[in-house]
Amino acid sequence: MKLFSNVKRIVVKIGTNVLTTENNRLDVSVIEHIVEQINWLVKEKNKEVIIVTSGAIAAGMQILGWKKRPKKLNMLQAAASVGQSRLMRTYERLFREEGLNVGQILLTRDVLTTPERRLYAKSTLLTLLKYKVIPIINENDSVAVEEIKFGDNDILSSFVVDLVDADLLIILSDVDGIFTDDPKKNKGKIIREVKKIEKLEKMINIGSPSKKGIGGIKSKIEAAKFVTSKNKCCVILNGKKPNCIKKLMKGEKIGTIFYP
Ligand code: GLU
Repeated sequence: MKLFSNVKRIVVKIGTNVLTTENNRLDVSVIEHIVEQINWLVKEKNKEVIIVTSGAIAAGMQILGWKKRPKKLNMLQAAASVGQSRLMRTYERLFREEGLNVGQILLTRDVLTTPERRLYAKSTLLTLLKYKVIPIINENDSVAVEEIKFGDNDILSSFVVDLVDADLLIILSDVDGIFTDDPKKNKGKIIREVKKIEKLEKMINIGSPSKKGIGGIKSKIEAAKFVTSKNKCCVILNGKKPNCIKKLMKGEKIGTIFYP
């Protein structure tokens, strides 16, 4: 039996390095291919999909002509404000071509940790799903400050899985999965299955967060820890590789799977 055939609701997190090219431009062909696969999940496989997307700051930097990621909060927030609308326009256009509507939701940590606001967020998401709209979530970077921040979308996506009681979190990254060593520096071996995260943490060289995004392997492992503690699966896949989501759903051994 295919591992994920009983999965109904899936959160797909798309990282900045997947969405952008080497020279920091939105990689529309990659986004288009991911959109096609999500369309396949929804229409052919009858799944419900929620996207958590990064890339607002990177897209904003591109539009504003900033070559280096700024350090100052006001600059990051300005870039996010400019980039978020470009990002949504891109998704909106590509999903419309597939015949699907999208809805934007910008969250901060306090929304998901305040019981009443959490309920409203959940209800909005479930209503979007009911009407076959693809919710596209990002952190509300242009107003989020330290106290109310998730800080990175790996963690945000794991909270979303819990919020909507999804069955699976797929983290699309620019590496093939978790390696025994930092895959961008040394040749480690890929780890296909993780049943005990504590054991994994002792085994690997975690590497450093990327320049364009924030996350890195550490936050992915933290997200996986949270999701698996809620009795759900988490998979890390290389989102730049063709048909990665389809291959996973068809039962091919790709990426790193974390079991509950
Ligand atoms: N929310 C950030 C953005 O859209 C990305 C955070 C992350 O890389 O995890 O640029």
